Amino acid sequence: MLQLPVYLDNNATTPCDPRVVAAMLPYFTEVYGNAASRSHPFGWAAQEAVDYAREQVARLIGADTKEIIFTSGATEAVNLAIKGVSEMYATKGRHIITAATEHKAVLDTCKHLEKQGAQITVLPVDKEGLVDLAALEAAITPQTILISIMYANNETGTIQPVQAISAIARKHGVLFMSDATQAVGKIPVNVNTDGIDLLTLSAHKLYGPKGVGALYVRRRSPRVMLTAQIDGGGHERAMRSGTLNVPGIVGLGKACELCETEMTSDSARISVLRDRLENALLQLEQSYVNGSRTHRLPHTTNLSFKYIESETLMMGFNKNIALSTGSACTSASLEPSYVLKALGLSDDLARASLRFGLGRFTTEEQIDYTIRTITDAVNKTRSESPVWEMYKDGVDLDTIA
Ligand SMILES: *Cc1c(COP(=O)(O)O)cnc(C)c1O
Repeated sequence: MLQLPVYLDNNATTPCDPRVVAAMLPYFTEVYGNAASRSHPFGWAAQEAVDYAREQVARLIGADTKEIIFTSGATEAVNLAIKGVSEMYATKGRHIITAATEHKAVLDTCKHLEKQGAQITVLPVDKEGLVDLAALEAAITPQTILISIMYANNETGTIQPVQAISAIARKHGVLFMSDATQAVGKIPVNVNTDGIDLLTLSAHKLYGPKGVGALYVRRRSPRVMLTAQIDGGGHERAMRSGTLNVPGIVGLGKACELCETEMTSDSARISVLRDRLENALLQLEQSYVNGSRTHRLPHTTNLSFKYIESETLMMGFNKNIALSTGSACTSASLEPSYVLKALGLSDDLARASLRFGLGRFTTEEQIDYTIRTITDAVNKTRSESPVWEMYKDGVDLDTIA
């Protein structure tokens, strides 16, 4: 049975898995203690649940439980990591290297530090969205304290060569942080084999609840130090004060456990659906894949249908198919995606893009419906478009204003 509307915006947020919700529920009404209350069973039970969730999160990324700090999500974790490192290592230097396709959480945090006197290098990427390793190494100076390169991109799914990046960082004694918010739970991520010193993740991108996430902070070789950004009761090893969101943390833990056991089968099934969708839509004339097709998350494809504005295209079907043109965070603006621009796309081609984010609950019927609906919408929009008619008449549209 076809379920409408079809949700293909899983890179913006995922639904909470019902098993996650079931795990969380007792922590609202029954086990409601403050995990920091040491003097009674309500507190002990909450603390026990948090400890267990910390194990579930740590296991998914190959970390030690002492290396996990719970936060309100990936944005907060990114802020804590970058600002915390920048303050802590200020005497060594104030240079940070990042890349043009990073999430705004990273780019805007770096901009904030730049205003306060830090030096920021924003590396360009190639047409697949990959950073150039030689350019990365060349950018390192004696003042460089941090390299922040995301694991996988939220708009295109492009996966960076994380192990090669960490090897360069190690060689120069620079810390390596990776925003792995889109990667964790979807593909194998291991902080040790990947050589990551700081990593961020978020529950609502991996079938957990919104408003909870974690920062991984390496504790040995090297031991990473951070300056807290939220002061108070000294929770989370004094790196992030504030009463713990026990139900949320329990949900994050359960979501991580489910991803660990189901990642292989989920990604095998979802990537088949993604490829089917992509190959079918590529049958349309002048359609292109944005980003890498080889180094890519299994559930994502980003496509441009040339000579059509995706905002216009979506009006034809957005009651039935939930998609986005760029990232959720910037989709309120009509500016073309800065991520796609960084890949070298023209404004026109960037404005012609759709991001498909499949997920655990996407069905075959929904993908077939999406193929039919979008194929029809593209054909119809083009049949009514004077620009398309000019293109078909052989007018070179790239040379006329
Ligand atoms: C969603 C996302 C974030 C922000 O996560 P929140 O938990 O919503 O703050 C950061 N980075 C990437 C790559 C994301 O996809």
